[in-house]
Amino acid sequence: MARIRDVVVIGAGPAGAGTAARLHQRGVRDVLVLDRSRFPRDKPCGGGLTGRAADALDELGLRLAVPHAPSGVARVRFGTFERAVALARPVNVIRRTDFDASLVEQVEALGVEVRTGARAEALDVGRDAVSLRLNSGEELSARIVVGADGVGSIVRKRLCGGQRLGPHRLFVQEVEALASGRAMLYDFTPMREGLRGYLWAFPLADGRANVGVMHYPSTRQDGPGLRRMLRDGLARHGVELSPRGARGWPAWGYHPRAPVAAPRMLTVGDAAGIDALTGEGIAVALEHGQIAGDAAARALATGDFRFADYPRTLRHAVVGRELNLDRWLAARLYQAGPGWQRWVGLALLDADVLELYAARVAGTEVLADQKLRLLQTLARRWTQWRRRRLELEAAVS
Ligand SMILES: Cc1cc2nc3c(=O)[nH]c(=O)nc-3n(C[C@H](O)[C@H](O)[C@H](O)COP(=O)(O)OP(=O)(O)OC[C@H]3O[C@@H](n4cnc5c(N)ncnc54)[C@H](O)[C@@H]3O)c2cc1C
Repeated sequence: MARIRDVVVIGAGPAGAGTAARLHQRGVRDVLVLDRSRFPRDKPCGGGLTGRAADALDELGLRLAVPHAPSGVARVRFGTFERAVALARPVNVIRRTDFDASLVEQVEALGVEVRTGARAEALDVGRDAVSLRLNSGEELSARIVVGADGVGSIVRKRLCGGQRLGPHRLFVQEVEALASGRAMLYDFTPMREGLRGYLWAFPLADGRANVGVMHYPSTRQDGPGLRRMLRDGLARHGVELSPRGARGWPAWGYHPRAPVAAPRMLTVGDAAGIDALTGEGIAVALEHGQIAGDAAARALATGDFRFADYPRTLRHAVVGRELNLDRWLAARLYQAGPGWQRWVGLALLDADVLELYAARVAGTEVLADQKLRLLQTLARRWTQWRRRRLELEAAVS
């Protein structure tokens, strides 16, 4: 009979590397990380590492060891309205090809076995172990399997079955430098054309930039429509997209009631859900990795592999509370009906709300702890809606 490993982590992206690093910190040595790709591998992404991602890397003993462009200002736009928000700590923009390969190298340097070109195709949960079948036909067994296998996660599929809300859709492409220089651009203007999300432009270390759109699934938008919004939106910034076009990728928005664990199985990162408001997921993946690593180490120590507390721990951790607050904000700002305009006026045109959000991005504040302040600010602004509406109308005319 095949030997039973302690932990198999499926996926060597930030969630898988983060989980492996945490298991190593907790003294768990019998860990195998699998990935169907060979590194360096690409992953469509804006590559923005927030202050929270920097903290999560530190806590895991991992380093940002690749070229990165620090950006200390976010420009938030809607029509002609623009507000620049200073970030107390910069967002570092990386290329995922470099970043993920560097994390894998760092984890391997700790002595963790990482097997690439190995796709997990099927899993079967038994009484004492989970059996995995790989694309090579090889069978593996583990006491615990961690699904760090991204949006198409086989572990997530096993836990969730059908989905109620469709996935977020994101498109990204690299372009020559932008006139906006080193600032990060978040442009919500395409919401007028039906986007429920925003267009971004993030500067890269070599002077180029990555640009993209994110669409929240409150309405249906097809790929050509989203690409058109990206193209037209960038044309307003004087950027012409190459005909090769942007690459699309789906992502599941985090929902606190979506299953994230079952006996002997955990999910982390995109397999558990991204930030529904921003589409941010790298910090989330690294923070989930810490929580999953701790849970797996505890299960091995106690022999209790049910993971009954994991969903609650994830929900109550800073990462879960921030994801839940952003889920609430996203459902309002990106709603299908006309109410979204009011929320653009309340949340995007408001200096206090943007300052609060900037502190969350920088990682200097936990926004979920400031919920009352946020709600009070939103309520105060609600009463000034007439003036806000005039500002909004002026911005789009
Ligand atoms: C266009 C776009 C822009 C984004 N911009 C940002 C941003 O600016 N900042 C930010 O923080 N987040 C951003 N995100 C989100 C971010 O990319 C993800 O949240 C992040 O990659 C999640 O990491 P992960 O490790 O969970 O998943 P992934 O990075 O997707 O890694 C999953 C790994 O699992 C492997 N795998 C999958 N299935 C199997 C299998 N069956 N067997 C073996 N291996 C498998 C894959 O090869 C992959 O390496 C963006 C996402 C998109 C799509």
